[in-house]
Amino acid sequence: MSDWFERARRRIPGGVNSPVRAFGSVGGDPVFVARGEGAWIEDVDGRRYLDYVQSWGASILGHAHPAVVEAVQRAAADGTSFGAPTPREVELAEAICARVPSVEKVRLVSSGTEAAMTALRLARGATGRSKVVKFAGCYHGHVDALLAQAGSGVATLGLPGSAGVTAATVADTVVVPYNDLAALDAVLAEHGEDVAAVLVEPVAANMGLVPPAPGYLEGLRERCTRAGALLVFDEVITGFRVGPAGMQGRTGVTPDLSIFGKVVGGGLPLAAVGGAAAVMDHLAPLGAVYQAGTLSGNPLATAAGLAVLERLDDAAYDALETTATALETGLRAAFEAAGAPATVVRAHTLVGFFFHPGPVRGYDDARAADHGRYARLFHALLDRGVYLPPSGYEALFPSLAHTAADVGRTLDALRDALAAAA
Ligand SMILES: *Cc1c(COP(=O)(O)O)cnc(C)c1O
Repeated sequence: MSDWFERARRRIPGGVNSPVRAFGSVGGDPVFVARGEGAWIEDVDGRRYLDYVQSWGASILGHAHPAVVEAVQRAAADGTSFGAPTPREVELAEAICARVPSVEKVRLVSSGTEAAMTALRLARGATGRSKVVKFAGCYHGHVDALLAQAGSGVATLGLPGSAGVTAATVADTVVVPYNDLAALDAVLAEHGEDVAAVLVEPVAANMGLVPPAPGYLEGLRERCTRAGALLVFDEVITGFRVGPAGMQGRTGVTPDLSIFGKVVGGGLPLAAVGGAAAVMDHLAPLGAVYQAGTLSGNPLATAAGLAVLERLDDAAYDALETTATALETGLRAAFEAAGAPATVVRAHTLVGFFFHPGPVRGYDDARAADHGRYARLFHALLDRGVYLPPSGYEALFPSLAHTAADVGRTLDALRDALAAAA
């Protein structure tokens, strides 16, 4: 065990500040990162890895992009936090609204969890209803009411929800299978008038990568409109990653509320909830729905977010999609050549795979995949200098710093790892 992990475990529960980092589902000791540059990370012993986690997608330009570093350094020199409004909060709000047509107003917060919590409270406050529908395997941060059948770390740990969450807290949460409109219809038939919000990852990326079936998001929109419930897109991963307007831009399906995180903070703690002014104005200080944050709209985080969004033009998304497609095709070919029963999926600029013959449409399929095999491949690739997500319930996040040569190197390592395992 590395010295750092040993020290960490003495003073931090499990040695990590977010569970999936502990390598619980793949075994072994976590890599302690000393630094990152572009597509690469370097550990405390000087070993380098091609990184497909990229802070779970937050670092879409790659690590330590010079423009982001400079923006943050400059911002820091002017003071790191004031607890008073600053111009860059306005600029970032404008940048978000300019890219996402459904967002007329936006509230900046510090994490995706906070954004989900705020969206839920806002939906309840705006509708006067209490229930929330979520989908099995979708993750919306560690909000008490939303941990039921969440993916990500909760899936990794095999917990149904979490200890410490009371029955009363989840009494208004209804969990429905993803990609199953009939199941939603049944819930709405029973509870429709009590449903404040239907909350969904428009591409599920926390049970592995599971794209929406054709017509699914349109079906959600239509049902929410009919039931008078707010449709909330959790675009914490897909926002500013699959395109400038996220999945709503890709599909033309307009949610009532959206939450963003990861990319929008440029690798710093920042997230957002946004939607039509009529809904957003229910938030304090205008409305009766309370929400606040000491570090909300933080000067460093808004500087990083602006520097990143500025660089995400059409050419950037094309480049990212080219990289993702090369990865997708290469992975599929390598698994096929090795006779490994894998399902490789891509959603625009996101890539994922399951050791499962497919199709993988939801959480039950994702759980039926061979996660032991994923763990072995993870380590074989780690030994060959490629850092995949340390769990089969996550997506791969190629960045703009990943070159065609990096993808080639990744696929060489994969073929070698598959051959060694045979
Ligand atoms: C990461 C994530 C969150 C939670 O964001 P945090 O910043 O980790 O709190 C919420 N929703 C989705 C879809 C995510 O991937």
